[in-house]
Amino acid sequence: MMYGITGTPGTGKSSVAEELASRGYRVVHLSDTMSRFVLEKDEERDTLVIDEEEWISSFVPVEGFVEGHLAHLLPCDRVIVLRCRPDVLRHRLLSRGYAETKISENAAAEALDVILVESLEIHPPDHIYEMDTTSMSVSRCAGLIEQFIKGEIPPSYGSIDWSAYLEAC
Ligand code: ADP
Ligand code: MN
Repeated sequence: MMYGITGTPGTGKSSVAEELASRGYRVVHLSDTMSRFVLEKDEERDTLVIDEEEWISSFVPVEGFVEGHLAHLLPCDRVIVLRCRPDVLRHRLLSRGYAETKISENAAAEALDVILVESLEIHPPDHIYEMDTTSMSVSRCAGLIEQFIKGEIPPSYGSIDWSAYLEAC
């Protein structure tokens, strides 16, 4: 089984993946698999543009977790969508040194549920587990993910509404 951990940058994917790795799970950081597929650097958005179709079609499925903001584009058996309240996400990205335009773009994407919507376009609803990491420790997040993949807690999504934060993005 391949489990995707996806979410807007700053929602805590790498942190929780590191915790899951320390609990013995195989974890692949998807950014490590993309270098062959870079098409260009988008200077304005300060991001690398990759050939997503080529990357997806040459991806060899993993037994374990794949972690990254494009994880939901892969043929995952389950998809965990991490969420973070946009104002808190702003702080996380600011302390990471992101430029204001990049922070706004990501906070707005989070407020608009972009990654959840994309995930639902690709995967059956009962394969999706959406999690609010805003005030949850990394260890607790990892524990819930473990319970979800073991079938101890049911799939769920749709209870998070950040629309009130959209204006402040
Ligand atoms: P991503 O990989 O989704 O971009 P990171 O795991 O790199 O996110 O985390 C982004 C920032 O948020 C880091 O500074 C990290 O320490 C912090 N962070 C991650 N998860 C949590 C959490 N559950 N609670 C509080 N802060 C967190
Ligand atoms: Mn990361």
